[in-house]
Amino acid sequence: MKRVVVILIVGFIIGFGLSGCGDSGEPGGGIGMTKARTIIQPGWQCPNHQNIKSAYPGNCPIDKMQMRRIGEWTCVDHPNISSTQPGSCPIGGKDLVKVADLEKQTGKSIADLTKEYQAAEKGKK
Ligand SMILES: [Zn+2]
Ligand SMILES: [Zn+2]
Repeated sequence: MKRVVVILIVGFIIGFGLSGCGDSGEPGGGIGMTKARTIIQPGWQCPNHQNIKSAYPGNCPIDKMQMRRIGEWTCVDHPNISSTQPGSCPIGGKDLVKVADLEKQTGKSIADLTKEYQAAEKGKK
């Protein structure tokens, strides 16, 4: 079950990478829903390379810069979920919370929370 979820996330991230971030707005207006969708994106980005993004914290493969968090909303259960606006988690459906609030609540940085989550996911495989 968990593995399916991970595959879905990876697929989502790959989809985003291929579609590019310069493309704003809906393609062709084929979606009839008016409700704003939660925009989930890879949560980490190199400050020097806008196109270098990752679901987990780490260093840029080009200049080794530490990637910084982008998107100020996340899920309490899934800190790898990153969104630029409030919404609900695509995995668990929980309302997203502000990264700053989550850090305050847990007393940990979002980088640590994401690494812990990543380690826990790895441990399950
Ligand atoms: Zn870089
Ligand atoms: Zn979640």
